[in-house]
Amino acid sequence: MSVVDLRLVSEHIDISDEAIHLLSKSEQEHYANLRIKWDGKLIEANTYVVFHSCARGPAKGGIRMSSHVTLEETRRLAELMTYKCALTRIPFGGGKSGICIDPNNITADARRVLIQNYVHVFGHYIYKGTYVPAPDMGTTPSDMAAIYGLTHMTESVTGKPPRIGGLYGREEATGYGIATTTRMAAKDLLGKSTDKLTVAIQGFGNVGRWTAKFLHDWGAKVVALSDIYKAVYMENGLPIDEIMKSKTLEDSTLPEIAPNDLLTLPVDVVIPAAIENVITEDTAKNLQAKLVVEAANDPTTKEGDAVLMSRGINVIPDILANSGGVIASYIEWRQGKSGSLTERSETYAAIEKQISGAYKEMTEFVNERKTSYRLAAHSLAVKEVADSMRDRSWI
Ligand code: NAD
Repeated sequence: MSVVDLRLVSEHIDISDEAIHLLSKSEQEHYANLRIKWDGKLIEANTYVVFHSCARGPAKGGIRMSSHVTLEETRRLAELMTYKCALTRIPFGGGKSGICIDPNNITADARRVLIQNYVHVFGHYIYKGTYVPAPDMGTTPSDMAAIYGLTHMTESVTGKPPRIGGLYGREEATGYGIATTTRMAAKDLLGKSTDKLTVAIQGFGNVGRWTAKFLHDWGAKVVALSDIYKAVYMENGLPIDEIMKSKTLEDSTLPEIAPNDLLTLPVDVVIPAAIENVITEDTAKNLQAKLVVEAANDPTTKEGDAVLMSRGINVIPDILANSGGVIASYIEWRQGKSGSLTERSETYAAIEKQISGAYKEMTEFVNERKTSYRLAAHSLAVKEVADSMRDRSWI
């Protein structure tokens, strides 16, 4: 099932049936059962590589490593990438990889060999530049370094460590973009500056931790954070700089709450930054925040979204809120192609420029047509992709 409801979108933009037909399915879907023998043990991983649409450029999208990832999930994530790039005017198409294995249950060496096997099987697309991978949930800059180690082409993969052709600011780019989006939306929709905000963030991985850090640095009170191990809560704000010293909350001694309670705390903004489908109908009914900023991909179910809308709770959709990562990836890819160097401040400026441009367009659409932010973002993005398909005489 598509993430974007193309029929609903077609009520707001001029789009042909042919375009709807093409966008309702992936352009390419590839499967492999990756196998390695490690320490006498067979390790297998069902692996999916999906290109949703390459109308606007090479397929761009991270590699997710998780014991739950499926073809359907990879498909939805690739589709989101198409529209994220289109909405923020980044000249990439949408792709994604899913490697179905528990990243915490495989040694670093075995993992490196698995990634090498992934490149061995799917490298054709990476060498040709048809697909440009990056980190996603469960993968890291070191994994991207392993890919670079095989291709020796600096533009073949993004999210690399800065000393081997990576980009200063890429690590924190997604969090920087989410914090920037939160700042703009809270001002417009809640009438509050960042230093007056209370925030709860689910997820303390790459995205959650950097979102917390920027919002905290800009004066917001981050009162709750959670990861797979536990959820911590302090009404007067968590000591974010102290927490940032650890990669997980596993050993934290801060006051705890039940992880399920985090999303329904009495805060101004809730930021799901971990996994998909966490804002269900039930959660949405009990949400106390007046604003949801989607840092994770696909964190709100269709039913949850309907409840939030009926309750007048605004949702800033994933394809805008978490686009900082792909914007930075584009700068890294461009840097790799040109051989130039980019300062961290330039990375931040590019994120701010692309996100605030898209935010402005989305807000104008909402004001003119009285739609949700999600429908506005989807409509603008679909129009951009459909126009590109026309430019290429595909339709
Ligand atoms: P990550 O692997 O670095 O971190 C994931 C975090 O979620 C960890 O803290 C983990 O403990 C936590 N988590 C997992 N299951 C959980 C659960 N049931 N409840 C609470 N916490 C849980 O991943 P990431 O890169 O931070 O990605 C998080 C989300 O953001 C994903 O949806 C990803 O697709 C999206 N995203 C990531 C980027 C990026 O640049 N990394 C860019 C755009 C979107």
